[in-house]
Amino acid sequence: MDQFARISGLHINAFKSSIFASGQTVTPMLNEAERLGIKAGKLPVRYLGMPLTTKALSKQEYEPLTDQVRGRMLAWRNKCLSYAGRLQLIKSTHKAKVAWEDLCCPLEEGGLGIRKLHYSSKVFALSLIWRIISKKSSMWGGCKKFLDLEKAVKASVASISSGRLIDITGAVGTCYLGIARDARVCEAVTQAQWSVRRHRIRHFHELHARIQREPVPDDQQGQDVILWNHSDDNFKPWFCSARTWDQIRQKKATVLWNKSVWFTQGVPRFSFIVWLAVRNRLSTGDRMRAWGIHQGCLLCGERDETRDHVFFVCPYSFTVWDKLANRLSGNRTDPDWTTSLQFLSANNLQIMDKILLKMVFQTTIYHLWQERNRRRHQTGHRTVDQTVRVIDKAMRNRISSLRYRADHKFTGLMQRWFEV
Ligand SMILES: [Zn+2]
Repeated sequence: MDQFARISGLHINAFKSSIFASGQTVTPMLNEAERLGIKAGKLPVRYLGMPLTTKALSKQEYEPLTDQVRGRMLAWRNKCLSYAGRLQLIKSTHKAKVAWEDLCCPLEEGGLGIRKLHYSSKVFALSLIWRIISKKSSMWGGCKKFLDLEKAVKASVASISSGRLIDITGAVGTCYLGIARDARVCEAVTQAQWSVRRHRIRHFHELHARIQREPVPDDQQGQDVILWNHSDDNFKPWFCSARTWDQIRQKKATVLWNKSVWFTQGVPRFSFIVWLAVRNRLSTGDRMRAWGIHQGCLLCGERDETRDHVFFVCPYSFTVWDKLANRLSGNRTDPDWTTSLQFLSANNLQIMDKILLKMVFQTTIYHLWQERNRRRHQTGHRTVDQTVRVIDKAMRNRISSLRYRADHKFTGLMQRWFEV
């Protein structure tokens, strides 16, 4: 045991330890343990809250653990009131047939900012590795994961600033450069100089020059530190889950419309309908045809109901949109969807007008879509003027619910809305 302590640095506290013995040599072993002050234990015992036995655990034995997990989740669900909202969101997006992959990317890449469990668990495992290599926790636990994820770590742990030498040269490099496969960095240094063999192959010639440009390790400069890659060779002495997640996930191109859909003053319910519209995932007539349903525009009677027709080629929709946004946009209302969305994302309006335009856009989209659904389910029929009034009221409700203080820069939002 002393030898074990010397090698591993782990000392055993006899007072806290028990010994479990089986087989034919039980008695001498227990006697020896007693001499060391370690008491004999009997299986099963509980270790980390779980029964420790020589057999595989049964479902019943797992129950206390599953109960605890269930309890935690319930508490968490009660804490997050918006959980129900999120669930609804996920359900409705699935109904709208948006691929899960598309939801699981950040808002600026056109997704809903949901994180894939697969990546989250990987980030968690990597944080464990970080804790092990930066010696921030004991060596217990996570060692197996460490081996599983060795590949992922390779990309994150720096050896020289261009990456691992072996990844650059391949196995032949060890021979060409005269450095053993298991050599440490200090072994490639003699008398404060890199001692790397020069080679006539052009590829190695360049590599040799690159190595020579690297600063030579020097004891005087202090101890080695372990760094984590935060993004493109930006190494920091701490771990960051968000940055790690960003590096392992599959990225998509950023979209220009994200700030027109998601913004502080927006209503999440409205933003979501606009998001579906931008992705052309609302169940308009042209999309329903695939399911064998034939339906024209319920607002004007046009034969084809497409996203672009409803927003705002349709005379009904365009009249509503124009009445609400014409003055605000400086006579720039346009029946074309793409033009409207582009104008929303890039215009040179005053900041408050910009906000109001985004707000009235999402409120209009939402209420037009609601009106369309009301007609589809025969539960109502509003005229253009009625719809405009409903949208105006929704706008005023939203602005007053923002409750900007008297000295806030957006405090005049309501007044501006009355003006336009
Ligand atoms: Zn129409």
